[in-house]
Amino acid sequence: MLNILKKKIKQYTKLLIRIDDVAENMNWKHMDKCEKLFDKCNIKPLMGVIPLNQDKELFKLPKNKNFWSRVQDWQNKGWEITMHGCNHLYTQKSNKQDLFNYGGDSEFYGLDYNKQFEKIKIGLEKFKNENISIRSFFAPNHIYDDNTLKALKNSQIKIIIDGYGLFPFYKHEILFIPQLFYKEICLPFGIQSTQIHLNNWNDNYYDKFQIFIEKQKIKITDLDFILNINSPNKIQNLINYLVEKTLKSIRFFK
Ligand SMILES: [Zn+2]
Repeated sequence: MLNILKKKIKQYTKLLIRIDDVAENMNWKHMDKCEKLFDKCNIKPLMGVIPLNQDKELFKLPKNKNFWSRVQDWQNKGWEITMHGCNHLYTQKSNKQDLFNYGGDSEFYGLDYNKQFEKIKIGLEKFKNENISIRSFFAPNHIYDDNTLKALKNSQIKIIIDGYGLFPFYKHEILFIPQLFYKEICLPFGIQSTQIHLNNWNDNYYDKFQIFIEKQKIKITDLDFILNINSPNKIQNLINYLVEKTLKSIRFFK
């Protein structure tokens, strides 16, 4: 019995590697190093690509003129290309009324449905013109409202890489793959995603990341593995509920 349980826990302890802020202008030095590392360890990460970046902070970083052919290469080797917003501009304030009560600035929150739908449409058209297929999304700064979810659903995007929980869960007919920590952490149980901001890295941080990846590589999975798992059972739903309540109350008192 204990062995079966141990086997089950192992089967359901997985980490998805989500790379944030992938754009023409980025920290290509460490992106190149990560690509070699992922290939060596046979890891297929999820690349959060900004389709039409207008974020001035990112413009300070080196530009890759062949960006879209690079994205196509990633897709061809089985990496998941995820839509990360449209322009990555924080024009909206959420005041903790957003879906996960994070409360930061947003590209989408508070805009009416048509405006949000239009942003997603423009972003998806850019991907289509570059021959990139998209089935998942995560918003800049983790900020969503009901209209964001509705606009995504009506654009045939039903997977979001964000949210609280130990396991992927369904909410409003969308599959959420939880993303819990800012740092690279692998919990002893559950299926979650990282958020990796390699644009801010120095060599020292890369070295630590390499050690983390080599240590955890057996647990690292890809989006298809998660999609093939059946929807969470009642116990998992209960655990997700408790984690969400706990994390929300911690944020509330911070
Ligand atoms: Zn971002």
